[in-house]
Amino acid sequence: MSVVADLIAELGTVCAGLPDQRTGPRRDRDYAMADIGLAAFSLFFMGSPSFLAHQRTLERGQGRSNCQSLFGISAIPSDNYIRLMLDGASPAVFDPMFLRAIEQAGPLTRFRCLGGRVLIALDGSEYFCSRKIRCPQCSTRRRADGGVECFHAFLGASLVAPGHQKVLPLPAEFIAPQDGAEKQDCERNAARRWLARHGETVAHLRPVFLGDDLFACQPIAAAIQQVDGNFILTCKPSSHQTITEYLHGATLDEYRQTVRKRGKQTTTIYRWLRCVPLRATADAIMVNWFSIEIRNAKDKRTYYNSFVTDLDVTADSVAELAACGRARWKIENETFNVLKTNGYNLEHNFGHGKQTLASVFLTLNLLAFAFHTAAYLAVLAWRDAVTACGATYRFFENLRTITAYVVFQDWTHLLRSITQADLRPP
Ligand SMILES: [Zn+2]
Repeated sequence: MSVVADLIAELGTVCAGLPDQRTGPRRDRDYAMADIGLAAFSLFFMGSPSFLAHQRTLERGQGRSNCQSLFGISAIPSDNYIRLMLDGASPAVFDPMFLRAIEQAGPLTRFRCLGGRVLIALDGSEYFCSRKIRCPQCSTRRRADGGVECFHAFLGASLVAPGHQKVLPLPAEFIAPQDGAEKQDCERNAARRWLARHGETVAHLRPVFLGDDLFACQPIAAAIQQVDGNFILTCKPSSHQTITEYLHGATLDEYRQTVRKRGKQTTTIYRWLRCVPLRATADAIMVNWFSIEIRNAKDKRTYYNSFVTDLDVTADSVAELAACGRARWKIENETFNVLKTNGYNLEHNFGHGKQTLASVFLTLNLLAFAFHTAAYLAVLAWRDAVTACGATYRFFENLRTITAYVVFQDWTHLLRSITQADLRPP
């Protein structure tokens, strides 16, 4: 169980280095920065906005709490004090912890595809929207009724793979007003910044980047190749005139696969065209275009999508490339939707702050998700506890409930209690 405890301890060290606005003797008397950072993180890790309140009650009654035993927090600061002290910290200080979580997750066997490579899906998401609250990091837009809405968005990156649901998040790049920029920031710019900041760090994973139609453009493709990555990007004909012109009248290569599953027959048709310019300029990157079409027994089309890639497309590789391209939706479904619905409270307003608080909280939330996935992949006792509960959301429900009333010695003790309690619904 040391994976979880180790990751939390390392995070504590990172938090201890957060900028401290306090001066003089107050700095030594008050809560340590490590306690403040870990206390905020514990809310997201336990998926409970009231976790700290319960632990304060336990501490009053029993003299100790799960904050101490599970998170190594020596004294629990108040919610307001946490907000005050974390506002202004740079979310980027937590970036290395995402890589640590991936290391701790163990061999990435289940994430390997295309001959030992990994897929990194990039996608934008919003995590805050208001007409009243705002900060300098807010982006703005005018609504149909004339009112101005403030919102926060980020470019998320996750390791995904076809064939299973697990995703491992990487650091986010915030879509926020940039110094010296006249235009509002956008997803594409954030993607280029992400690649510039993290491309080198993830190069050893030999990534193939996935993205939606918005990213199937020359600047992003070039930025990916610059960090030695390759890409499989959704490419809709309507937004890619040059490619559409090349496809028109061309003889496409084709590969068909018919399978029968539980008496139902489906036919998958792959088509491709190699060496197409991404845009109509002399310096255009040459890409391979391919499509996947699924037809049911009545020959009705049930699925269609098309992609561009800089990997070689052949009858041998096209099916796997298509499966990889299709794994992109997992960043929406298995990352963002999970964060918005499964107790992570991604859109819940823990506090917006005046400087960076909203993005610090978002980062800690993503990090909690990363630690959970690493724990699931690396720790048998964690998987056993999830299995014993029957479903992941039930596991977290139990985690929240029992830690509100019982102080556990450590994570092993907590997980064993969940596994042995037989909390499965009848
Ligand atoms: Zn804001």
